[in-house]
Amino acid sequence: MKVLCEARSDVGRKRRGNEDALFLNPEQRLYVVADGMGGHAAGEVASRVAVDAINEFVTLTGGDEEITWPFGLDDSISYEGNRLKTAIRHANRRVLEATRESAEYEGMATTVAAVLVDGDTAHLAHVGDSRIYVWSEGEISQLTNDHSWVNEQIQSGVISAEQARSHPLRNVVTRALGGRSDLVVDVLLLCSDGLTTMVGDEDIARILGETASDVALAATALVEEANERGGEDNITVVLLKFEE
Ligand code: CA
Repeated sequence: MKVLCEARSDVGRKRRGNEDALFLNPEQRLYVVADGMGGHAAGEVASRVAVDAINEFVTLTGGDEEITWPFGLDDSISYEGNRLKTAIRHANRRVLEATRESAEYEGMATTVAAVLVDGDTAHLAHVGDSRIYVWSEGEISQLTNDHSWVNEQIQSGVISAEQARSHPLRNVVTRALGGRSDLVVDVLLLCSDGLTTMVGDEDIARILGETASDVALAATALVEEANERGGEDNITVVLLKFEE
């Protein structure tokens, strides 16, 4: 299966910096969106450290070499699901290590939405309120349930270095999509909440319906719509189109 990918990350109209990060690795078929939070520039650091660490682990386990898995394997999910889940837990460790590098990084955190494609199966993982949607035959469905924990904790300022040991990236939810002939996936959308707080699901579906034959156009149109409606937050979208 061929995967066409288009991604955009935009600062929006209200924020000075872009705390979102995205990582596309077509060789490993890994696609990641992260939305960082924290004072000063810490949100940018958290999301960047996370996506780099996820890519690092997925790339490391993509070859034949024997490596030691840091957290063991979860028997209830597939090998590829394990790769993705462990990559995020590895990222969690890296973000925690980074918080100790500077007082300004204390309490920083990030969400993650990630897809790893293997054959005709897409393995999905997410933490926090970055979302993954599937758009198929004109209908959109959200495949992830938001964890509001991260935002609530950060916004109320209750995450301390102590509490960061139980950092939200530990709570990874994974699932597999596909591998069944009855499920037709046209497009997967990964996005930060800068899209979904500005543009409702129905409008996302409408825009995809108008543009999804050209994912580059669709990615631009989604970002433009979020900006036209105020662009209150950074907007990041990754569109994956599957073709036989
Ligand atoms: Ca955000």
